[in-house]
Amino acid sequence: MQYNEPPLQEISLPVLQEAAVRLLVLREDLNHPEIAGNKWWKLKYNLALALEQSHDTLLTFGGAYSNHIVATAAVANENNLKSIGIIRGEETLPLNDALTFACSKGMRLHYVSREDYRHKTELKFIDSLREQFGNFYLIPEGGTNDAAVRGTEEWGRKISRIDFDYLCLPIGTGGTTAGILAGLDGRKCVLSISVLKGGDFLKEEVDTLTKNNFQKVYGNWQLLTSYHHGGYAKTSEPLLSFITEMKNKHNLPLDVVYTGKLLWAVLEEVRLGRFERGSTILAVHTGGLGSYRSSVNRE
Ligand SMILES: *Cc1c(COP(=O)(O)O)cnc(C)c1O
Repeated sequence: MQYNEPPLQEISLPVLQEAAVRLLVLREDLNHPEIAGNKWWKLKYNLALALEQSHDTLLTFGGAYSNHIVATAAVANENNLKSIGIIRGEETLPLNDALTFACSKGMRLHYVSREDYRHKTELKFIDSLREQFGNFYLIPEGGTNDAAVRGTEEWGRKISRIDFDYLCLPIGTGGTTAGILAGLDGRKCVLSISVLKGGDFLKEEVDTLTKNNFQKVYGNWQLLTSYHHGGYAKTSEPLLSFITEMKNKHNLPLDVVYTGKLLWAVLEEVRLGRFERGSTILAVHTGGLGSYRSSVNRE
């Protein structure tokens, strides 16, 4: 897969000056035009494995707005593989931008009821998919599996060469946090901002992932669960104005699902005095801004 070296963007704001901290944004959203951000790293070794095992089809799961569905479709297309997206819920026409993009990359969409979707990790359900679609390389919802964590660990090692004190990133399933923690190997202070309501379970999720993949539970990270703005893909007028302001005044494009909530949380924590004076905060822009994207879910 093509990889563009992402720039570091420094943000200047009075609140940062008052707190005497520096804020750098790692613009990993610019690492690839279509398979951007953390999804690039999560798919890297999944793609390698699929090719190694001579698969010709990638199959994965997601909601209708899933960045992971979009990235999987693009990866498959770039590598001349077929792709199948198992989408939660009923088809709504016209297709939204994410699914239109996935289709343009040749992804075959298959809708399943919310009830059936709940069984997506069960062997019986997966067997029925194999009966229907033939053999495929399966990537779980959100893309988090051992191969994904291997990719995000590599990313974490790369990030560890940047000079900073705190690393902040959004968290959905925990695959990115787990790998980055392993790549940093106990160094620095990591804050993961949950984009889900009731995200407390993610603490154990990440610790289990690092235990299973790296035989370690890391003590240098914290989960913040109060910045979800109503829940996954939910938003609010203040968050939307914040995103517009960051784009217009700071030339920093953010999405509503992940990175808008991340930057909001970082600046709020700066105001609350969480970060030591004189320190550098690295916020990881994990992507989510495909040029196809224009829809916003408002609460
Ligand atoms: C998928 C995604 C995440 C969540 O990553 P996890 O590994 O599931 O925690 C964060 N940011 C963006 C932009 C994403 O697309």
